[in-house]
Amino acid sequence: MKKIIDFHTHPYLLQEENFCHYSDDFKLSPEEAKADLERAGITKICGSVISKNGYEPELGFERIKALNDRALEVKELYGDFYEPGFQIHPAYVKESLEVIEFMHKNGYRLIGEVVPYIHGWGKHGLNYGSKELREILELAGEYEMVFSFHTMISWKDEMEEMIAQNPKVKFVAAHPNERSQYMLHLERMEKYENAYLDISGSGLERYGMLREGIRRVGDDRILFGTDFPVTNPGMYVQAVLFEHISEESKEKIFYRNAERLLGLN
Ligand SMILES: [Zn+2]
Repeated sequence: MKKIIDFHTHPYLLQEENFCHYSDDFKLSPEEAKADLERAGITKICGSVISKNGYEPELGFERIKALNDRALEVKELYGDFYEPGFQIHPAYVKESLEVIEFMHKNGYRLIGEVVPYIHGWGKHGLNYGSKELREILELAGEYEMVFSFHTMISWKDEMEEMIAQNPKVKFVAAHPNERSQYMLHLERMEKYENAYLDISGSGLERYGMLREGIRRVGDDRILFGTDFPVTNPGMYVQAVLFEHISEESKEKIFYRNAERLLGLN
């Protein structure tokens, strides 16, 4: 494949941002991580920085801002190889709106992956259906932004509410998961034109899953993603290549859909 865009990664500069589960004795530097992604055939990555330092409400928006600053540092190091994804947080509407304005001014369209389970949305009594989030997404919609979000299985109704209430935002759910969860993703995609899915995390190892998704919802709203460095990127590339789908579908999933969504060339 001439291009492969990994829509869902979490790049890092420091080891505390490296989410590889086996990094005790396997610490790739940021440069080595990039070389490994390229070795898998990946030509560009997207996504947010996350940190094992977690989230502490008493620090306010500070931790979240630090992650966004780090994403810009990674961008400096990786250049064209990386399209940064920015964090917002519904407990901090004003600060989040500033992030959106900054992104728009600088030509960035990707919010997330947002990770409510790491960033304590629950501690603030917030979820994907909260009006605070809607306020942030309203501005994101004006700027035709893309919202990459972690699938919160217990927030089934809230995920649907979020997608339904913000038709101008393109929502990319992360992780197909097992069949029962994957079917819910496909149902949402059948119902809402602005619902997309990236194939990172679990699900793709089930033979025929990609073919089934295309049969149900077409090939324009499914994006290639891995969740590197949690996962082995080579495995995901090979899994897509091995599915019984057309060359055209593979091109769309590997890069054309991401290019269109994020306005990349
Ligand atoms: Zn992720």
